[in-house]
Amino acid sequence: MHRWLGCILFVGFALPGLAQPGKGRWAVADDVQRDSFHLRRTFFPCSVPEHYAPDTSLLPESLVYRIRINVHIINDSRGRYNFSEAEGRRWVQDLVAQANNRLAANQKPWLPQGNQIPALPIPFRYVLTGRPYVPGDDGIYFHYDDELFYMNKKARGPGVVNNVYDERQFQRYGIQKDTVINIFLIEHHPDSLFSPTYKASHDGVGKSNHAKLVGQYHLSRKITLLPNGDTLRFTPWEAAGLFNHELGHVLGLSHTWNLDDGCDDTPKHAGCWNFNEPPGCEEVSNNVMDYNAYQSAYTPCQIGKMVMSFHQDKGTRRFLIPDWCSYDPQKTWVIPGGRTVELNRSLDWTGDIIVRKKATLVVRCTLSLPPEARIVLQPGSALVVDGGLITSRCSRPFAGIWLQESRRQRPAIVWKRQGTITHALHPL
Ligand SMILES: [Zn+2]
Repeated sequence: MHRWLGCILFVGFALPGLAQPGKGRWAVADDVQRDSFHLRRTFFPCSVPEHYAPDTSLLPESLVYRIRINVHIINDSRGRYNFSEAEGRRWVQDLVAQANNRLAANQKPWLPQGNQIPALPIPFRYVLTGRPYVPGDDGIYFHYDDELFYMNKKARGPGVVNNVYDERQFQRYGIQKDTVINIFLIEHHPDSLFSPTYKASHDGVGKSNHAKLVGQYHLSRKITLLPNGDTLRFTPWEAAGLFNHELGHVLGLSHTWNLDDGCDDTPKHAGCWNFNEPPGCEEVSNNVMDYNAYQSAYTPCQIGKMVMSFHQDKGTRRFLIPDWCSYDPQKTWVIPGGRTVELNRSLDWTGDIIVRKKATLVVRCTLSLPPEARIVLQPGSALVVDGGLITSRCSRPFAGIWLQESRRQRPAIVWKRQGTITHALHPL
């Protein structure tokens, strides 16, 4: 086995997983020890958001989930009140790039003051996604519609349309609604812009399958002169703060300042926009899910909450580029000898897993492997499926559990609390 692995490393090309399985045999039902001890479940590790936050001590490499989005710009029928197609296309590409840059630059949260909460890397990025069957479709669309190009935030009450919650943009123009998050850029009504009492701010909404962002074109045209003579422009970087906020809602996050959002690391607070803004404000948040001038921080729990949903069929998994069924023979997770790894979260791993001598892998949630991939158990190692499920979330099964036995030691496979292994080419 060592020689074979060395071969991969030194020769530098991938050997197919099944063709050269090394010395050993596939595990069968008789290899499984069933632990009938029934522990009453008071601990549900699979639904603890923090277990899904990036953890370099758990996984050998950081995962990156790719979220499919598209963006629609809706203008009036004469094309007067929103971006032109040439400018709009550039704006959207820049907006998505800046939203991803903000994800890449996650900041430590400012609240509560004096906290020790780390700024963890955000494990996802947005990808503009067109229809694969439409040549040249880049996931950016333009519509001309006198009824739906605007929002009126003063429109309230039952039956009232054109407020921010109006879903007709999504209903009329949504594309690939089941697999791609549709984002609509609309404007404030031109009449409202003339009203001295109407604040044409950057507004938005994030629903379970789409988002709307309001006023970017108007704001991009305005130049604010600061007291020191500098000018302030509303650029895609500024727009990307609210973009991430509304996408945060789509990905399952709530506001933090006034609600219990299910996270212990996002304290409630006064909801200030900025320091001394409104006057007297001292305690300012930089959390993405608040309304503030920064929107630059996601806490570990918030990150975990979004990633947890990526693993749930009824969550946001449908919006991910489904790359978990492509076997990557270079991506081998080796659990070093003597170590115990407890997998208290669901995971899509796209390579093999090798549990070295005297190491233990405990699986408590769903572990999915692609076709060709296998779990290799070396002599004296253990695989404990403790209430978890090892499977392939793909149409084709994963290869199975490969056992390496020495004269003195065999690996152990233990099923606890209805743990199970399904959808394996070599079933147990
Ligand atoms: Zn919000």
